[in-house]
Amino acid sequence: MSNPPSIFTRIIAREIPADIVFESDSIIAFRDIAPKAPLHILVVPKTEAYRNVTELAAADPGLLAEVVATAQLIASEHSDGQYRLIFNTGDNAGQTVFHVHAHVLGGTLTEGSLGF
Ligand code: AMP
Repeated sequence: MSNPPSIFTRIIAREIPADIVFESDSIIAFRDIAPKAPLHILVVPKTEAYRNVTELAAADPGLLAEVVATAQLIASEHSDGQYRLIFNTGDNAGQTVFHVHAHVLGGTLTEGSLGF
């Protein structure tokens, strides 16, 4: 039996609503439902073949480069072009959705914000 679709795949399929800010053939980006910064957007490859950034980097570095380029585009369009990019990898690191995604955090992040 195959695994149920990830919550992000369900957003891509429009089964769950989200505030989508960018979409291409390979990537979707939407606002995080529990923002940790003035700008907090998730950039998600549409495939759920990769559980984390390590798997994505090994299997499809071009798609990882697209994720980074999309992060820059979003930070430029929605903030001042400066951003922090986080890939939680593993549940001890805070990963809760095992469909690779980047957190794009922007706005004014003061020293010590986000815990580091
Ligand atoms: P991570 O903990 O790194 O796996 O990140 C998962 C992120 O997905 C968390 O920051 C959640 O707030 C976010 N999230 C979960 N469900 C939704 C949703 N339906 N729409 C937008 N963001 C979500």
